[in-house]
Amino acid sequence: MKPVEAMNDLIEGNGRFIEKTDSDLREHVKGQWPKAVILSCSDSRVVPEIIFDQGIGEVFTVVVAGNVASDDTVIQSIEYAVAHLDVPLLLVMGHNHCGAVALTEKCMAEDVDGGALVDEISAGFDLDKDHIVANVKRQCKMLPIRSEIIANAISSGDLALMGAVYDLESGRVNLI
Ligand SMILES: [Zn+2]
Repeated sequence: MKPVEAMNDLIEGNGRFIEKTDSDLREHVKGQWPKAVILSCSDSRVVPEIIFDQGIGEVFTVVVAGNVASDDTVIQSIEYAVAHLDVPLLLVMGHNHCGAVALTEKCMAEDVDGGALVDEISAGFDLDKDHIVANVKRQCKMLPIRSEIIANAISSGDLALMGAVYDLESGRVNLI
C-alpha cells in the first residue's frame, strides 16, 4: 500500500466513525474519567479498547513496544492517569507472539546488543519461564520502584496494579 492510499483509508475511516457514532462527542470535552490505565504493546493486533469492549473516555492507554515502562515519558504518562485522573486500576498487559519479546530472546541467544528495549525485557527473564509473563512481572515489579506516585497510590489503597496476558488466538485476557 502506498502512503497516500494508507492516508486516504484512514481519512475514509474517520468519516465512517463520525457518521456512525451515536454518542454526542462534545460530552467528552467536559473531561475524562477512565476506569483504568492500561500499559500495552504497540502490536497492531492488540487494541485494548476493542478487546475490552470499551468506548471513548473509558480506558487510558499507554502503548509502547513490549509494554515496557522503562522510559520517563512512559512512566509520566501512567503517572498522569494515576495522579490526575484517579484511575483505580493499572493493568500491564503483554500478549503471546510478541515481537519485542521474540527479538529479546533472539538477541540473548545470539549474544548481540539489542538496545534499550531488549535490555529492559531481558532483565525480567528470570522472573518466569514464560518470557511473555516474565516481562509483565518485570514491569509490575519495576513500576512502583521507578515511580513514587504509583508506589504511593498503591500503598494508600487508591490503586491496584495487575498484570495480564492477551491471547491472540482466543481473544482472552488472562490475569497473572
Ligand atoms: Zn508485542
